[in-house]
Amino acid sequence: MFSPMLALLSSLLTISAYPTNEDTSITLSDSTNTVARRWYSVPEMRVTTGPWPVKSFDPVTGNHAPIVYCYEDAWEIGNFPPLVGQAFSKWRDAIDRSALDFVPDPSCYGILECGCATGLTQPDTLHIIRSIDGQTKAVVGYEYDSNQDGRHTLKIGGYDPKNQESVPLYVLAIAHELGHVAGLAHEHQRPDRDIDLRFDCSALVGYTEGITKVSRAMFEDVNNIPECRHLTPEKCMLQVVCSSEHYVDTYMPTAFEYVTGDQVPTWDDFETGLFDPKSIMIYSSYKGSNNPTGQFPTGAVLVGLNGDEEFQIYTGGDADPAAAGISDGDIERIKQLYPKGI
Ligand SMILES: [Zn+2]
Repeated sequence: MFSPMLALLSSLLTISAYPTNEDTSITLSDSTNTVARRWYSVPEMRVTTGPWPVKSFDPVTGNHAPIVYCYEDAWEIGNFPPLVGQAFSKWRDAIDRSALDFVPDPSCYGILECGCATGLTQPDTLHIIRSIDGQTKAVVGYEYDSNQDGRHTLKIGGYDPKNQESVPLYVLAIAHELGHVAGLAHEHQRPDRDIDLRFDCSALVGYTEGITKVSRAMFEDVNNIPECRHLTPEKCMLQVVCSSEHYVDTYMPTAFEYVTGDQVPTWDDFETGLFDPKSIMIYSSYKGSNNPTGQFPTGAVLVGLNGDEEFQIYTGGDADPAAAGISDGDIERIKQLYPKGI
């Protein structure tokens, strides 16, 4: 069941990726119903940020590139394993067909509720942490250009174990973040997303406040946003601020997760293929909307485009978070980033 309360929770639950780090897969292409490759992700090369390293090879089962994890503290060990375990299960079809896996840190000898332990946990192990700012977010890919202990994190925010109705949403949000950890980026942040999507910044929470801030800044000094010298505040927002990594932080922070990857310096080597509207890595149409109960497309932040046809988007391809999961495209890109090598 997908209740209105779940819809509202879904629109409020923040699923994101660190901007400093942030998917060849398969999607059904428009009218021809053919299958084509897609992606927006870290590059296959393991240089600065890339797929997790291959740790072992077996002639029968092939490469093994596990994402090794631990839970930060007692609260996390006591509350997160059932959610994270279900999120791992959403990736099962990709795990079965690639070198990717999720395994506890070796210091836990296979115990799934593995706690992080200073001096015992590997430096590159993924720390699963309850976030203090309420946000759910994760690193994107494996960081090869650092040896910093605990540099790989998955932070889960706002989860209340007493609210069991929220579990399917958290499981989906965590599964989305696991896609980031494996190296996948948001479909709606691809540099070419405007071909397949319409992004409406004015539908986001915070837009009215953003206009007020932009108006004030333009009034105080025209050079505060020089690109808007000949624009109204509304046009300045829609044509400049909402698509600029430089300005969203100051004037429209809720648009941050919609800025295209070409604006983010650390994503300039990310690889892109065909668009996948069913990916677990795309935001639902009404996520973050200031009118979450609008009749589609009214109030939609993201609208899917297929020629003249407009369609609603759901993270993981289904309005029901319990039924939503990884797409064929997500599986294909994981197979490319984590080839079995046999
Ligand atoms: Zn995300």
